[in-house]
Amino acid sequence: MEWYEKPLRFGGFIMEPEIAKRMNCNVVQISKTEDRLFEKVIEEFHKREIKVICYIGTFWMDEKMAKEHPDWLQKKGVKVKTFEESGRFPCPNSGWRDYTFDYLKDTLKNYEVDGIFFDGPGFYAGSCYCDNCQRRFKKQYGKTIPLKFEDNPDLYRNFIRFRYESINDFIRDAKKEAVSIGSKVPIYMNARGMKGLTKSCGRDVQEMAEYEDIVGAEAFMYYFSKHQTLDRPLWEQSGTATGILNPQ
Ligand SMILES: [Zn+2]
Repeated sequence: MEWYEKPLRFGGFIMEPEIAKRMNCNVVQISKTEDRLFEKVIEEFHKREIKVICYIGTFWMDEKMAKEHPDWLQKKGVKVKTFEESGRFPCPNSGWRDYTFDYLKDTLKNYEVDGIFFDGPGFYAGSCYCDNCQRRFKKQYGKTIPLKFEDNPDLYRNFIRFRYESINDFIRDAKKEAVSIGSKVPIYMNARGMKGLTKSCGRDVQEMAEYEDIVGAEAFMYYFSKHQTLDRPLWEQSGTATGILNPQ
């Protein structure tokens, strides 16, 4: 049995090993810091028998990168905006993908991390109409992506499918890249629970489960204020595919 198949008590972003230990965490999820420090922090966690999952943010590009690689940005169909206007979501079908996989391999080669967590990627609602997506879609379906559902319902349904597939491919290929350099660490990414927003961002927790070592769901936002929907139980909103695919 792998360590991540046993019960886990996660410490999210706890950078202080002694605090994580006092909270009885057996795994933490932390971002990469400046080189030497990250190495040292991992060492300290390991001394306390706490696993370290490296957090890699994959839902947003920084301003410098967006300016250098405007073709990596997602484009909305109805009105194509500049990155200053539309935010900086990277497209998983663009060159950003290779950049991210290189970053992944570099992390795995240089640090003793026990796992990788990707915070994203996902699609904007209605994205993406970038050149890379258009090219890939045309190759698959022989046509350009329709702007609206009403323009061509069948083709638009294919576009929705295409978005799920693009995300599934990302996590599947990330694992392949890791395996190609001999890494066996678990890899997984952010997903929704059983409720809501899967279609709008192109992430389906049940589909992704096929390619992930850990199935997770980010659902803290459903527990409070405007995000909470009272027509569904809370367990469903933050539940993951594990309960359905493997219902013991
Ligand atoms: Zn795209």
